[in-house]
Amino acid sequence: DRAPGEQDAHAFDALVSTVPLPRLTGMDTELSVDLHPLSEVWYPPLSVLALGYPRAAIEHPLNGFGMLVPPVEDDLNILGTIFSSTLFPGRAPDDHVLLTTFVGGARAPDRATLDSSALQSLVESDLDRLLGVEGMPVFRRHTHWPDAIPQYTVGYGQIKETLAELERTHPRLALAGNYRQGVSVGDALASGIDAAERLRERLEAPAAQPH
Ligand SMILES: Cc1cc2nc3c(=O)[nH]c(=O)nc-3n(C[C@H](O)[C@H](O)[C@H](O)COP(=O)(O)OP(=O)(O)OC[C@H]3O[C@@H](n4cnc5c(N)ncnc54)[C@H](O)[C@@H]3O)c2cc1C
Repeated sequence: DRAPGEQDAHAFDALVSTVPLPRLTGMDTELSVDLHPLSEVWYPPLSVLALGYPRAAIEHPLNGFGMLVPPVEDDLNILGTIFSSTLFPGRAPDDHVLLTTFVGGARAPDRATLDSSALQSLVESDLDRLLGVEGMPVFRRHTHWPDAIPQYTVGYGQIKETLAELERTHPRLALAGNYRQGVSVGDALASGIDAAERLRERLEAPAAQPH
C-alpha cells in the first residue's frame, strides 16, 4: 500500500541485474563507474507483423523454416518471415497459415515505426512477390518493439570492459542479458547462469565472508 512516489528500501547480499542497458543507465544508482558508454549501445526498433491467410491463398508450399532477406535485395522492405504455422502446432486454424514478418531493425529503423496499415501494405506486397499471395489476410497482429536488440558494433569491446569494470568495483553486482555474450534466447539464458555462478564464487570467497 505505497503512496505514489513513496519508496521502499530492502537490503540484499547480492544483486543480479537483467534489465536492458537503456533501463540500467537510466536508473538512479550510486554506482562508482561512468555508465555513459553503455548508453551508447544502439537498440534499433523492430516491428513484427503476424498475418493469417487461408492455406489456399498462398502459392508457395511453405515447406521450411521461413526466409531471410539479405541486404543486397534492397527492393524488398522486409527483413524476413517465419513460417510460424509450419514450425509450431496450434498457430493457425485448420486450412489456414500464419506468417510472421520482421520489418525495420538496424537496416531500416524508420520502417519499423510505420503505422499498422502502411506496414501491412509493404509486407503484403513483399509476401506476394516472394510467396505468391492472393487476397487479404484474415488475421493481423502488429507488435512494435521500440528498443529491440542491442547491436554488437565495432568497439563493443569497450562496452564489455565497462561491464567488467562495473562488476570488479561492485563485486556483489552481476549483470546478465542479451548485451553480454550474444542476443539469442539461449545466449541470454547462459549469461544469467554465468552471472549467478560469478556471484556464488564471490560470495563464497573468504574475503566476502562476514567477520
Ligand atoms: C521481435 C524479436 C524476435 C526475436 N526472435 C528470436 C528468436 O526467434 N530466437 C532467439 O533466440 N532470439 C530471438 N530474439 C532475441 C531474444 O528474444 C532476446 O535477445 C532475449 O530474449 C533478450 O533477453 P533478456 O533477458 O536480455 O532481455 P528481456 O527479455 O528484454 O528482459 C528484460 C526484462 O527486464 C524488464 N525490465 C525493464 N526495465 C525494468 C525495470 N526498470 N525494473 C524491472 N524490470 C525491468 C523487462 O520487463 C523485461 O522483462 C528476438 C528478439 C526480438 C525483439
